[in-house]
Amino acid sequence: MKSTNTAAQAITRPEYITRAIFAIIEKLDAQRDEITETGRPALNRQTLRKLDIITPIWDRITAGKRISTADQVRALQALHTSENMTAKLEDVNAMSTACSVNPICKARAADACSICAHCFAFTTLDRYNDLEQAAVINFVVLNMMIYSPAAWKAISIPASAAGQLFRVEAFGDTASAIQAANYTIMAATHRYLGKVGIWSKNLGYWATAFENLGKPANVVFNASSPVLNQPMEIPDRFKWFIDHVFTVYDAAHALAEEIDINCGMRNCKDCRHCYKRSNAPAVNEILKQEAKRYYKARGINYKGRGK
Ligand code: SF4
Repeated sequence: MKSTNTAAQAITRPEYITRAIFAIIEKLDAQRDEITETGRPALNRQTLRKLDIITPIWDRITAGKRISTADQVRALQALHTSENMTAKLEDVNAMSTACSVNPICKARAADACSICAHCFAFTTLDRYNDLEQAAVINFVVLNMMIYSPAAWKAISIPASAAGQLFRVEAFGDTASAIQAANYTIMAATHRYLGKVGIWSKNLGYWATAFENLGKPANVVFNASSPVLNQPMEIPDRFKWFIDHVFTVYDAAHALAEEIDINCGMRNCKDCRHCYKRSNAPAVNEILKQEAKRYYKARGINYKGRGK
């Protein structure tokens, strides 16, 4: 990996991220004593503890103060790794931020042509409040600053039960080059996680991170097409780091155009396609909510992933 000093100098925090982090912290602070309609506290104990750790560090970052390695480690220890997931991600651990606070995800979700208008992550986070709180804290931690390799090395990240696959972003996307740089350093300093599969629509942030830090040997990059039924065209300057182009189709389009749906009826731990380096071949999946209809039309009894 190249020097992180170069990355830290080349990558600055954009204003929209600073605004987003201030807004998140302000909202969480206002919810400290709030009780929801169900009689439960709005924030769980872990979130309150993490908030107490990251807020003073954020205040020092925005005041231009130096953040010691010990404090960087404390911030990184607030990161949550998703384990025990089901369906496609059974036995694959993941680190993810929340689409619900990501300004880019929110703008895309409001665009009917975007795949994000059909995104399952928004409903999942809405349903599982503790998961959303953890992913929101991840967003803040991963976008506040670029942490040193020494700080990253000091934290332990749980490897998957399969021991070989780790996913970057399951409920959100990269919001800045700072976040991309942090994931890059995480992959380089935690080789025991095995293959780190990254999914992102925001290639520019990754180009900046990889140009400054290098693309770690255990990273496999999946470019997520932002528009339904339309594989993303990869600009020449990004081609060097793209391993696959991942596109989601609706049933009618896939059937009419005879699209080769090569992601479906399997779990990632058995398939592993997106965790192997390649030179940008297409990976095509059916919109989750239309999978049954699509497979029925093809005379296949679809019972879910891996069935
Ligand atoms: S193609 Fe295979 S590895 Fe890729 S997302 Fe689908 S099931 Fe997972």
